[in-house]
Amino acid sequence: MDKASDEVGEMDVADEFRVCPGCEYQRGFHVSFVKPAEKTDALRLVLICPGCGDRFDIGKSI
Ligand SMILES: [Zn+2]
Repeated sequence: MDKASDEVGEMDVADEFRVCPGCEYQRGFHVSFVKPAEKTDALRLVLICPGCGDRFDIGKSI
């Protein structure tokens, strides 16, 4: 299995972000929670494509 990419692309989400723009995988994404560099309790939500491993930041934190 390939190592997932460490690069994170930023995406604007219209109504739904389900299809990977890199490989066109259509069944949604895995999620990862990333601790940001700045001091905060919030975690950044990153989507990971199960098909190609590309990572996407949709600008949301939890
Ligand atoms: Zn993909």
